Amino acid sequence: MHLQSTKRLENGVEMPLFGLGVYKMTDRDETISAITKALQVGYRAIDTASLYFNEIEVGEAIRHSNVPREEIFVTTKVWNTDQGYDNTLRAFEASLKKLAMEYVDLYLTHWPVADKFVDTYRAIERLYDEKLIRVPGVSNHHSHHLEQIFTKANTAPAVNQVEMHPYLSQQDLRAFCAEHNIAVTAWSPLGRGGVLTDDTIQALAVKHGKTPAQIVLRWHLQHGIIVIPKSVKSHRIEENAQIFDFELSAQDMLTLDALNQNKRFGKDPDNFTFDI
Ligand code: NAD
Repeated sequence: MHLQSTKRLENGVEMPLFGLGVYKMTDRDETISAITKALQVGYRAIDTASLYFNEIEVGEAIRHSNVPREEIFVTTKVWNTDQGYDNTLRAFEASLKKLAMEYVDLYLTHWPVADKFVDTYRAIERLYDEKLIRVPGVSNHHSHHLEQIFTKANTAPAVNQVEMHPYLSQQDLRAFCAEHNIAVTAWSPLGRGGVLTDDTIQALAVKHGKTPAQIVLRWHLQHGIIVIPKSVKSHRIEENAQIFDFELSAQDMLTLDALNQNKRFGKDPDNFTFDI
């Protein structure tokens, strides 16, 4: 496994296991310099969303890098207030225009808005059939949401992006996704920084001569999970990528698994006001 390793998705597309999340990057120069730095370090995936209001900067940073577009895996998402079949098609067009790209690699339903998420996904399927996206996917979907989609879709989502970190290990959902060949991406893989002061994680960091963030990101990868840690700080963008030169033992993995508390730093998809 190395920084540019990929996971082969259900439809054969190779998705990088590691990428940069750009949530809350709203300052134009900061966003462009974080993405530029990440691409220089060797990151090959960028995770954005229309909600993040930085698709223009994502497109610009990629165009001005010396990495060809087709070597970078770009994810964006349709926001809650844009859901439903026709609205999703329109929202996608707006995202594509802001990114100034001809296609998006992965397009996700951001949250499963009640009564709309199935139609939203059907629109994503159409974009896939029209080859405007390479991979159809969803985010924040529980297994019961996915089951509803299965009854209507011809092509199942290939990716489900959900909150996951050692305090929310998502064991059941991961098993469900594995059974249905759906790759899992962890959002807030570091628990927004909230798991990094954990004593057990810090002790493992000392043991391996690594930082707590590196321990946590490695735990995800060894579980076969795709990670998209966010940082605008140059040294952290580098640090987060330096996780391919050590390995957690089976016992270390169990120790980290045991930290699960089903604790969310974000919202629960079953208990969320979707209009914000
Ligand atoms: P994260 O777990 O990646 O944590 C980011 C924060 O952790 C940073 O702001 C910084 O404060 C800290 N940090 C980062 N690297 C560190 C290091 N090496 N040492 C110490 N602290 C460090 O949280 P996130 O930004 O919420 O999630 C990552 C990405 O996931 C987002 O940028 C976004 O792309 C995606 N996301 C998706 C959803 C969704 O609903 N689909 C929701 C939230 C985030």
